Amino acid sequence: MANQSRRDFLKQAALVGTAVTGLSTKSKAAPKNSLSEDRMGVLVDTTVCIGCRKCEWACKTAHNLETPPLESYEDRSVFENRRRPDSKALTVVNEYQKNESEKIPINVKVQCMHCDHPACVSACIVGAFSKQENGSVIWDGDRCIGCRYCMVACPFQVPAFEFEKALKPDIKKCDFCFARTKDGQIPACTEICPVEAITYGRREDLVKAAHEKIKNYPHRYINRVFGESEVGGTSWLYLSSKEFEELEFPKLGKDPAPGVSEAIQHGIFAYFVPPVALYALLGGVMWINKNKKNDQETEI
Ligand code: SF4
Ligand code: SF4
Ligand code: SF4
Repeated sequence: MANQSRRDFLKQAALVGTAVTGLSTKSKAAPKNSLSEDRMGVLVDTTVCIGCRKCEWACKTAHNLETPPLESYEDRSVFENRRRPDSKALTVVNEYQKNESEKIPINVKVQCMHCDHPACVSACIVGAFSKQENGSVIWDGDRCIGCRYCMVACPFQVPAFEFEKALKPDIKKCDFCFARTKDGQIPACTEICPVEAITYGRREDLVKAAHEKIKNYPHRYINRVFGESEVGGTSWLYLSSKEFEELEFPKLGKDPAPGVSEAIQHGIFAYFVPPVALYALLGGVMWINKNKKNDQETEI
């Protein structure tokens, strides 16, 4: 009986999906999600980063966010608390101790990972997020309706909502400096890093370079490149001397995060369907259900 109901539901959902698609071929608004072989990425070498936080400063400056003077970033007391990117800081650097006896810190820069199969893109019902050909995952404020599904969907808990703004709050996250990179410039954080701990380049080349480093310096790195395959791969990749989970990276599988919700949302919500058409379709489903019930009652 339960199976029968599920089959019926899927049949009806397929009918609705087909009808919705047919009705909306002219107003299709599905998000762009192209994966180019030449998409760019960043390789973060956490064994090289010195925690100077100049990348934080450069990021804020490039995005016209309120930016304290560069000298103030020398204050290392910020490392006493664990920080996350938020609406006022699109990237932050955290510090971890290598081990109890050795007081050498490991610094980890955190920002959007620019996933190859971004959950934020899949979750957004109006196509406000898109994966660009150069690898950037960007957000379009003109499309966003503020539902915040992206925040719930992101496996790295990155998108931040401007709760402090009463009028027209934005979703904030690292945009991979799309305004710069689309014109051939490199991201502001990679440009300022004084020790080349963050390298911008073709993702494919960075993956090779990362494995080369691991092969040449097996005592320096663990044998893993975070982001190479996690959630289907990300544009930002990390090297480390310590297990990533110990540096508070989320434990994720290789499958893209969007999962089953993607098909449903893209099939129904990513098209601008006039509400009256949607109600008509839902009415149709109810009519099918009612008739089915009547038929069953007649059989009895
Ligand atoms: S890290 Fe989150 S916000 Fe960034 S692309 Fe991936 S799912 Fe989207
Ligand atoms: S790529 Fe641009 S937006 Fe992203 S962390 Fe670096 S400076 Fe900030
Ligand atoms: S600028 Fe470079 S060295 Fe300094 S904190 Fe950022 S990634 Fe690390």
